Amino acid sequence: MTNKYMYFIANWKMFGGLNSLNSLNRVINFFNKFKKSKFVKIIYCPPNTLLESMSRKLKKSRIDVGAQNCHEQENYGAFTGSINPIMLKSVGAKYVIIGHSENRKMGETDKLINLKIKSTLKSKLKVIFCIGETLKQKRKRMTKKILDSQIKLGLKKIKNKKDILIAYEPVWSIGTGLVPKNNDLLETVKYIKKKVKNYKVLYGGSVSSNNVNQLKLVHNIDGFLIGGASQNSKKFIDIIKKTYN
Ligand code: PEP
Repeated sequence: MTNKYMYFIANWKMFGGLNSLNSLNRVINFFNKFKKSKFVKIIYCPPNTLLESMSRKLKKSRIDVGAQNCHEQENYGAFTGSINPIMLKSVGAKYVIIGHSENRKMGETDKLINLKIKSTLKSKLKVIFCIGETLKQKRKRMTKKILDSQIKLGLKKIKNKKDILIAYEPVWSIGTGLVPKNNDLLETVKYIKKKVKNYKVLYGGSVSSNNVNQLKLVHNIDGFLIGGASQNSKKFIDIIKKTYN
């Protein structure tokens, strides 16, 4: 049983249509009644197509909405297919996930990530900044080196700490069912917190209602970024409940 303040961020990735919003009723009801709700921050990051309708649906709840990425330019411009932070804010987003490994894999560089973080903060949105090593890098014992570099370049010339959440997401753990050993995770989160003081650090990668009892024992984690399991309201609620059990 804990009273720790924790973030539970739902990353829906490229899933969900208008019908999926009905599943939020269950989460809203649960959260309204949940005795530990004052210790919990829930943030839903749906695809951009659902941002506005989801924001409206969650307006009276204490659940926030975020986007999964943005363009690096803060204001309007001739960038076909892109969306800037101001546009995201106008439809209710309060957070933006930046640097997710699925986007890094598509060519997003640390420099670009740094620009995106800056323009997001300038637009008065908060950032969920993802970092993490690949399996190959882990095997070569390069985890700390990779995290150092992602942090150094991603947060270059950024002083604002209170509006950035760091999500440590080992790439080999995302969508695979694999999670780090508790001791390794404790050590890595400790390392990140030593490197960049006063940041909240979340863990992401295959978090589920089956492994959360184990993961919650890693006491320096400030919450979870949840992909697959967050698309199912019951599983998402179970993760929150078990964290506080
Ligand atoms: C993610 O998308 O950031 C993620 C952690 O996904 P999953 O929980 O499915 O591994």
